[in-house]
Amino acid sequence: MPFYDQAIETAPRERLQTLQLQRLERLLQEISGRNRFYTKKWKDAGIVPGDIHSISDLQKLPFTYKSELVRAQEDAPPFGTNATFSLDAYTRVHQTSGTTGAPLRVVDTPESWEWWGDCWGHVLKAAGVVAADRLFLAFSFGPFIGFWATVEGARKIGAMVIPGGGWDSLQRLHMMRELGATVVCCTPTYALRLAEVAREEHFDMRSIQVRTLIHAGEPGANVVRTKSRIEKDWNAKCFDHAGASEVGAHSFECEVQPGGIHLIESQFIAEVVDPRTGKEVPSGEIGELVITNLGRAGFPVIRYRTGDLVRPNLSPCACGRTFLRFDGGLLGRSDDMVTIRGVNVYPTAIENVIREFPSVNEFQVTVTTLHEMRHLEVQIEVLSGNDAEHVRTGVEQAIYHALSLRPTVKVAEPGTLTHFEMKARRFRRLDQPSGSASS
Ligand SMILES: [Zn+2]
Repeated sequence: MPFYDQAIETAPRERLQTLQLQRLERLLQEISGRNRFYTKKWKDAGIVPGDIHSISDLQKLPFTYKSELVRAQEDAPPFGTNATFSLDAYTRVHQTSGTTGAPLRVVDTPESWEWWGDCWGHVLKAAGVVAADRLFLAFSFGPFIGFWATVEGARKIGAMVIPGGGWDSLQRLHMMRELGATVVCCTPTYALRLAEVAREEHFDMRSIQVRTLIHAGEPGANVVRTKSRIEKDWNAKCFDHAGASEVGAHSFECEVQPGGIHLIESQFIAEVVDPRTGKEVPSGEIGELVITNLGRAGFPVIRYRTGDLVRPNLSPCACGRTFLRFDGGLLGRSDDMVTIRGVNVYPTAIENVIREFPSVNEFQVTVTTLHEMRHLEVQIEVLSGNDAEHVRTGVEQAIYHALSLRPTVKVAEPGTLTHFEMKARRFRRLDQPSGSASS
């Protein structure tokens, strides 16, 4: 069975937790008083990090939200107050894609970049990647951290990296064939697209030697139908991976593929909480993943609300690892979980509709109760110089067209809506208690 660090990955859970606590204490000591973001946050909350003496003590510390990190960056541009050390200590900067608001920059030191590599080492080894492999990274190497960290992971295990930026899909397929690529890293959507291009261009997929695909960026590799379609198209096995710029490369799928991903518990501490109350959910129930990373003192996240829904499972895995796993991988975003009149409403879907209207300056979506049913109310701020009523009816019709739901759309006075950076805060739930996050 392929392991990156077998002793740790198969250690009894008590030993794992002892290791986590040691690393947590060391991290808190290192950043307390030096990291401006957390020093202020804990002072405001009246918490002394020296009081943390067990993993459960972690709950005494406040949650960290992405919006706070974005604000901390706006307050102290360009890198923000979460950069623990003086800036000359850092050797890399990356940033989130910014599709959901202002991009968040993250910075790494040589040490934390090594840590990214170790985390990716776990991902690659678990997928059976060995030194003789040639990894094709079908990724446009830009500021997004994505597969940059994969390069480090491949270096750790001695595999060859083929950077696949700057080529179109057909060129990429040809390069895979010419250079004998055995492993491909890309999003699930792009794996399907490459197979489609191969069909269109009469490129014979059997002429390439790829036996493994490693996917990130979307949940597809743990969505049963998507996974089987990719595996059929490529005649290869595909593996899921989850990570985030602000957190790290935190989870991987093992060779046994029990229908979920393992968290690298030697490098991360996970909590799974009810997204509404912040209280821990029992094992086996769906909740929001909250992560503390242990190897990035230069830009840490402590109790970070990822917004990702997971179902934790601590039962033994046939691979021999004792690491916690999440059944089904990442299940969606916590703010995605609302059903109105039988229609699954995703905040991003509503945002996509509203963003078609450049004259809408800001908006707020509220789920309310109307005649004992959930109802969608949308408030929009319309830029001056536009016919507000015309825009209002346009938004109303567009939402109905996209979601088959009739919302109430109201025009708000300019400046009355809060102008958030993060999309999630634009959605409010004022409906009846839904019972559980999965309703
Ligand atoms: Zn496993």
